[in-house]
Parts: sequence; structure tokens; C-alpha cells
Amino acid sequence: MNTPSHAILNLALLSQASNSEASLIVVFGGILPDIPIFLFYGWAKFMTKLPEQKIWSEAYYQPIIQNLVATFHSIPLAMFGWGIGYFYNWESLQLLCLSLILHSLFDLPVHHDDAHRHFFPVSHYRFISPLSYWDIKHHGRVVAFVELVAVLIATVWMFPWVDSGIGKGLMVLVNGLYGWGYFRFYFRFYFRVQKINKTPSKAEFAEHEGAIDPN
Ligand SMILES: [Zn+2]
Repeated sequence: MNTPSHAILNLALLSQASNSEASLIVVFGGILPDIPIFLFYGWAKFMTKLPEQKIWSEAYYQPIIQNLVATFHSIPLAMFGWGIGYFYNWESLQLLCLSLILHSLFDLPVHHDDAHRHFFPVSHYRFISPLSYWDIKHHGRVVAFVELVAVLIATVWMFPWVDSGIGKGLMVLVNGLYGWGYFRFYFRFYFRVQKINKTPSKAEFAEHEGAIDPN
């Protein structure tokens, strides 16, 4: 699932109304598992200047990167963290770990060949879902639409409770970008093809699919 969706959906499901400190912890826990991926991408793209194709087909699959991503997407490790929080009566840690668990539970059903090892280090099992949140070959168009609608509903639901102007602005921005992104990647192509009144050729499909970035 797209990183901003985790922040908004986790907030809707876990936040305790007007407790803004708890909300910040939930948002942080929602995005934390994907931060190593962003850091890796920044390093690969701007420090080593690898081509986009190589970043996602080779560099991303190096064991060190994979283990780092698996650590932050691990349900057992987050449960262990929650247990420590419970034992020491540390509510912030419990909330953070619940948000991490929820992130993994949302990722689990929508990753196909980029599936994470959600049971690391207990098991290296990857659930290869028939659905993908981005890959058009695995119902990406439908999943992306469901994600967009879920985020919109969560935003409308949470909006009155968010008392930070920056938070509200970010929520509007995310929804705007999703709407624009969806139109750009999934709709415009078909509009263009319909306009000139012909069905898209195989080559056009391939070109369009290749244009979609996994992030
Ligand atoms: Zn993730």
C-alpha cells in the first residue's frame, strides 16, 4: 500500500480522538516501515545514480536491504515491541507497535512480487498475493481505486478531529495527489485511445504498463 495511506488509515483506526500526541505516534508508526525503502531509494538514485530499472530489479533485492525492510515489516518483532510496552506500562510504545502491525496487515494482501517477509526473523515466508496495489497485471487498477476510496472516507471521518493545520493540509494534499495520480495512470490512457477511436494495441499496453512506477 502507498505510504501516506498507511498514515491516514492507521490514524482513522487507532487514534484516540483529540489526543494529538497519540495521533502523531500512530502516524509515525504508519510510515516508519517504509522509511528504509525511501532511504535506500534516495541513496541508489542520488548517491550511486543507478538507473530506475536497476534500482527496483537488482539493488532493492540485496540481502542487506531486504533484511532491513523485513525487520520494519515484521509482525512478530512489532508484537514483541508491544509486549515490552505492555510489561513496562509504556503506552506510547504499545501504540507505535500497534501502528506497525497494522501497516504490515495492510501490506500483506496487496503485494505480489514485491511481497515483504512479514514473519521475519521467525520465518522467511512471503505471501505472494494475487492482488497488487500498483501492478496492473495483478488487479492494480481496482486495488488502487479501493485504496483511494478508503483513504478518502478515512480523511472525511478524521478531518474534524485533526487539530493541526499542517495535518489537515497534508491529508487534502494526499487525496488530491491520489485522485490526480489515478487519473494520470489508469484513466487518461483509455481516454486518449478512445478519442482516436481504436482499441489499444499490445505495444501500447506494454508501454503504458512500463510507465507505472512501483512507488
Ligand atoms: Zn510497507
